[in-house]
Amino acid sequence: MGSEELFKSLFNDYNKYIEPTLSTEFIRHSEMIKCLGALKSKGLFCTEKLGESVEKRDIFSVSFGSGKIKILAWSQIHGDEPTATAALFDLLNFFSGDDQFNNFRKNLLSKITFHFIPMVNPDGAEKYQRENAFNIDLNRDTLRLESPESKILWNYASKIESEFGFNLHDQNSYYTAGRTNKTTAISLLAPPTNYVKSIGYVREKSMQVICKIHEALSNFIPKQIARYNDDFEPRAFGDNFTKKGISSILIESGFYKDNTDKNFVRKLNFIALLSAFYSISEKDFEKVDYTQYFDIPENEELLFDLLLRNLTINYNGKNFTIDIGINREKYLDANTGKFYYKSSIADIGDLSIFYGIEEFDMHGFEVVSEKPIVIEEPADFKLLKNGKVVKEIINGFISSYDS
Ligand SMILES: [Zn+2]
Repeated sequence: MGSEELFKSLFNDYNKYIEPTLSTEFIRHSEMIKCLGALKSKGLFCTEKLGESVEKRDIFSVSFGSGKIKILAWSQIHGDEPTATAALFDLLNFFSGDDQFNNFRKNLLSKITFHFIPMVNPDGAEKYQRENAFNIDLNRDTLRLESPESKILWNYASKIESEFGFNLHDQNSYYTAGRTNKTTAISLLAPPTNYVKSIGYVREKSMQVICKIHEALSNFIPKQIARYNDDFEPRAFGDNFTKKGISSILIESGFYKDNTDKNFVRKLNFIALLSAFYSISEKDFEKVDYTQYFDIPENEELLFDLLLRNLTINYNGKNFTIDIGINREKYLDANTGKFYYKSSIADIGDLSIFYGIEEFDMHGFEVVSEKPIVIEEPADFKLLKNGKVVKEIINGFISSYDS
């Protein structure tokens, strides 16, 4: 089977491997621990407690395979980015499967030893927040290693000395792949090791593997794959691991239209990682011209959740034309364990270079608000047409009640 055909069959058969107890939207530490427990009966996996978070939640690694090449993959260093944690468990289900992919998985397991750390930041995951329990961003803690979670990741990577490191995140839904209105479903980065972004052997390998991931994903999401901003971040893990000799690859789960639960993007993670593992096991990434990495369109922040174009606003008796961009943020209600949304105005003015995940041409509509309309304020204005209230923004999106 050629690789393109292989990835297509993996894509088609993915449903067999979904870990049904993990949702892509929110994963509690206890749910993740239950999944780890279930691995014991499968024989293939070795789980090891690496330490505890600030609030004493256990952080584990899962190791499997017996090959010479070592791969480390870690997820959810940012607590509110659970998509790849779910995808890692889908992969574990895949590796312990027994079906028409046996040759493929046996080949990977004989050439590679895998080490996964699902959920590096369990305290943040529990609160659905980016930071850890004392509110620091763990991916800016690599120099100080002040938090126990960062120490665990750093020490484990130092101990196993893996050749490759997969750094798994979620990015917000406001990115497009290049200057288009197409959302970025997956973005990829080979992090640099200095401010001038030089390309040495270690980073070059990351770029080559990324080109192979890009090739595999292009079968399913052409034009929705982007290259993440490659500015040097001296405090981040990917940049420091690359410095240390680990070819690091950042995979960001983005947004795919009409897939708010992100299950499709979870599936894309599954394919992205398997295509990378395959290319590493076959060493075919070595044949790739790494400069093709720069042909992947850049991740551009060009979207709003809602874009209202060509509105009229009246100020001191004079009319002006404005566009309004509104974004909606997701919050966890700690008491009920349910999510709710709050929307606010992200930008006002000439937004003609931007796009909306939802957008409307509001020509002929006038904005009225009791307060001046201010960026970052709740979006609670009304819209008038011919002097009549027709639409209202109520802590969410447009609800039309009198048109
Ligand atoms: Zn992140």
